[in-house]
Amino acid sequence: MERKNAWESYDEKDMKSLEELCEGYKDYLFHGKTEREGTRYFILEAENAGYKPLEYYMNKTTRGKSTKKLKAGDKVYVSNYGKALALFHIGEEPLSTGMNILGAHIDSPRLDVKQNPLYENQSLAYLDTHYYGGIKKYQWVTLPLAIHGVVAKTDGTVVEIVIGEDEDDPVFCVTDILIHLAQDQLSKTAAKAVEGENLDLLIGSKPFKIEKTEKKRGKNDEEKENKKSPVVKEILSILKAKYGMEEEDFMSAELEIVPAGKPRDMGLDRSMIIAYGQDDKVCAYTSFVAQINQKKLQKTACTLLVDKEEIGSVGATGMQSRFFENTVAELLHLMGEDSDLSLRRCLANSSMLSSDVSAGYDPLYASCFEAKNAAFLGKGMVFNKYTGARGKSGSNDANAEYIGRVRGILEKNNVHYQTAELGKVDAGGGGTIAYILSLYGMEVIDCGVAVLSMHAPWEVTSKADIYETEKGYEAFLQEA
Ligand SMILES: [Zn+2]
Repeated sequence: MERKNAWESYDEKDMKSLEELCEGYKDYLFHGKTEREGTRYFILEAENAGYKPLEYYMNKTTRGKSTKKLKAGDKVYVSNYGKALALFHIGEEPLSTGMNILGAHIDSPRLDVKQNPLYENQSLAYLDTHYYGGIKKYQWVTLPLAIHGVVAKTDGTVVEIVIGEDEDDPVFCVTDILIHLAQDQLSKTAAKAVEGENLDLLIGSKPFKIEKTEKKRGKNDEEKENKKSPVVKEILSILKAKYGMEEEDFMSAELEIVPAGKPRDMGLDRSMIIAYGQDDKVCAYTSFVAQINQKKLQKTACTLLVDKEEIGSVGATGMQSRFFENTVAELLHLMGEDSDLSLRRCLANSSMLSSDVSAGYDPLYASCFEAKNAAFLGKGMVFNKYTGARGKSGSNDANAEYIGRVRGILEKNNVHYQTAELGKVDAGGGGTIAYILSLYGMEVIDCGVAVLSMHAPWEVTSKADIYETEKGYEAFLQEA
């Protein structure tokens, strides 16, 4: 069963739409490297497309009655701590008949700065980190890195930080031992060659200079200051001047270390994109665009963009949180349906595409795949009936009837698609948010875009797959 290469079917009009979509995608990739930045990016775009925050409809009169009822055609979004987002476009049918849902995640593997991170060793200053998500540690050394995040101060103010993305910005890196002295390192397994505790970010090497004004201060102050490591002291003085930040403020900061730089077209034919965080931003963006492009709908369309997938979908901003369920309950309330039964019916009657990436077949590592059931770049949207490991363990194994229904929609809309497994049986495994939504009894299947070098600092996708997947998501929201 051979699947066709999508590129062969494109005319000029397709190529134009494809490039437009991918330019937008690259813009999001650059401005939405973290879950917070991504949420903000999507809220702005959603508002431009006529979406309103749920609070707009929740404004109550003194009698406790809602002033604005939700009705067909209304578009709402709800932000979850600024790190996750739910978007709804209300359809003609009652909500209890179910929704068509797309769900992707907007967090990506990275290095997170620890709560007490700053130290100096031999006149070099470092930020200690703890990696987030599954990474091959050796891939994260010797490349330019940027710092993105927030510092929350005790007075309630929150300072935004992005360093390393402007052309003029400094960048940072984790160093590696030179090949000449790497005899020991190279005899270790790849998992051990670079240790997690050694993924510390080099951020400075210049000692603080005591200015004349400084000397005017009391003797005690001066002695105390001089005890501090001089390079760290210089770093702290920069942080203070630029961000009004004290060392203690690291305790309430979320600083994420990500590869610095812009997404780029890849290949002489410019057929691919290389960028950080395409898992799962490629599905997040295509889902978002599909949601925004909807006109009139029978069933309510919903797009979920969640956090924490890479560490098990835990926490208040992950898919396991009650956030989604609570939000749907609020929507039902605004439509005058307050019973728990309506909520349960709405969720159970829904259909979902768990929009997540799939492993692209890599001919250089052919032995990890089973080629008949692998996802190929350029062959369109990828469906994974199941994921999991060691005998499908932990996977949401989608119902055949549901897959048949979704195939029908895709074929009617001329969407290129393929089916795949993550890799060869027992080669490894992985999971997505699919199993969490399936707990409500709804139909769910994993599908998304094939990625090469998944979870590496720079991941690769095919523009044709991005184009086909967006088309597929759009058709699903309209017709499922
Ligand atoms: Zn992932």
